[in-house]
Amino acid sequence: MYALPYLQKYKGKATRHTCPQCEVKECFTLYFDGNTHQPINKRVGKCNRESKCGYHYTPKQFFIDNPDLNETTRQACDLHYSKPFVARQQTVVPIGTIPFTFVERSASYKSNFVRFLCEILSNEQMQAIGEKYALGATKNQEVIFWQIDITGKVRTGKIMQYNPETGHRIKHESGAIDWVHNKLKKSGTLPKDYNLQQCFFGEHLLGLHPEATVCIVESEKSALISAAIFPDEIWLASGGINGLQEEKYKVLENRTVILYPDLKAFEKWNEKAQMLNSLFPSPLGEGSGVRCSVSTLLEDIATLQAKAKGLDVADFMIKQLKNIQPDKTPEKSLIQSRFSPELQSMIEEKPALMLLLDRLELIEV
Ligand SMILES: [Zn+2]
Repeated sequence: MYALPYLQKYKGKATRHTCPQCEVKECFTLYFDGNTHQPINKRVGKCNRESKCGYHYTPKQFFIDNPDLNETTRQACDLHYSKPFVARQQTVVPIGTIPFTFVERSASYKSNFVRFLCEILSNEQMQAIGEKYALGATKNQEVIFWQIDITGKVRTGKIMQYNPETGHRIKHESGAIDWVHNKLKKSGTLPKDYNLQQCFFGEHLLGLHPEATVCIVESEKSALISAAIFPDEIWLASGGINGLQEEKYKVLENRTVILYPDLKAFEKWNEKAQMLNSLFPSPLGEGSGVRCSVSTLLEDIATLQAKAKGLDVADFMIKQLKNIQPDKTPEKSLIQSRFSPELQSMIEEKPALMLLLDRLELIEV
């Protein structure tokens, strides 16, 4: 079976090498082949002098650049010295940002999406997540999911229409998504070469709560509903199954991360988790890096029927909130010993919540 490449674990100076670009010693981490556990090539790796050098030659790029190399020749081969690798940071166009006034001006609960949420959440919960995530609305009652990065800069907003009764998305015929930056480009407010770099939905919360556990789901809807129920964790949306791109990972350094994949996506996300853990290897004694795990919540509980339909985290939460009785009700005594009076009264009202807490493996702090 194919195993993903990984960055060599730190085990003393011998495991850090001379960077092929800046030629500084002991600053270069090699990528290892996940199957053979050998270096992929002596130029395939990452310099840890990120701002001064920035060299990062990924295995993926290496295999794109050298499609014909086989297992035995690729390690020994000296490649592409004629075409030195240029760090991505030297790209001329800076990351595009949108003035915050657009977020302020759009702030509204008058979207069909929020109308739906109000059916399943309390007013307090709704208000809390509305403010946290700066939810906006358009004149057509579409919701705007703003992407605000860890430094508070607005990258773009996703504009989506929902059915207010079912909470399901209403897609354009083309299947395309409307983006705020595209609209602003069309109106001439943003330059034509606006350099969109998407970030996690909810990423700005990372800066506000540096100690909190980070939970990542696929959709904005799942993130919001989860955040309403479990406000102590930070809930981020990756924006679809392929949303966990490498460039986005940086903000997760030093965090405890739990991925909550939707059904049918477990394997893919598991691979991402391994990649994430290997991207930030913990230097001995410093305890940094990322502690990332993948929840098997949905895989574990899904009936075969649900599996066929591709249940997502939001569907599951909504079912619980609507109080469709799960297969067992938790013992009351167990509830009382574990939670704050506030949460406990919530649980007594909706016993399904207890089950949910258990299954999400979350602890009330
Ligand atoms: Zn370097």
